[in-house]
Amino acid sequence: MFQLPALGYDYGALGKYISGDIMQLHHSKHHQTYVDKLNTALDEAPSLKERPLESLLTDLDSLPDNVRTAIRNHGGGHYNHSLFWQWMSPDGGGEPTGELANKLVAQYGDFQGFVNEFTAKSLGVFGSGWCWLMPDMSIVTTPNQDTPIMQGMDAPLLGLDVWEHAYYLDYKNKRDDYVQAWWNVVNWDFVAKRMS
Ligand code: MN
Repeated sequence: MFQLPALGYDYGALGKYISGDIMQLHHSKHHQTYVDKLNTALDEAPSLKERPLESLLTDLDSLPDNVRTAIRNHGGGHYNHSLFWQWMSPDGGGEPTGELANKLVAQYGDFQGFVNEFTAKSLGVFGSGWCWLMPDMSIVTTPNQDTPIMQGMDAPLLGLDVWEHAYYLDYKNKRDDYVQAWWNVVNWDFVAKRMS
């Protein structure tokens, strides 16, 4: 059975950027529901229960028809959110250093150029979805809870949840204010660790 992972910080730790109310709702309700519904789907297909989540998400076509959509949506949601909590930190923000910084500058001219491009793509997601920085320094988006590894791509270095549930309590319909605030909590150490 999959389980909700603990946050590495308190719900209120991201302060004014992402409120404790949002973090608690997002983690304990939204993410918990993805976990619960993923487990329910696997009860319908017990032969899949021993497989790691990545193995299911990278092989959706082979899954039984009766659980494929549920695993795509709820398994994707569990995978994406388990990373998302780690992509934020009370000690986050600022700019990356080292090889990651060098690669971003090579691709986007400077760090701000990357921020501008990632922000623009995040704001361009129609409806619910995610924006990703990939290991080749490209920026891609996915709808709903789809995740790059479902599409044959590598695991993303960084991702941003742009579902309204991620920001509505704090920012109402202003996704741009949420994305601006989010840069202040990005955990660049975790992003850099995912490069290797
Ligand atoms: Mn979410």
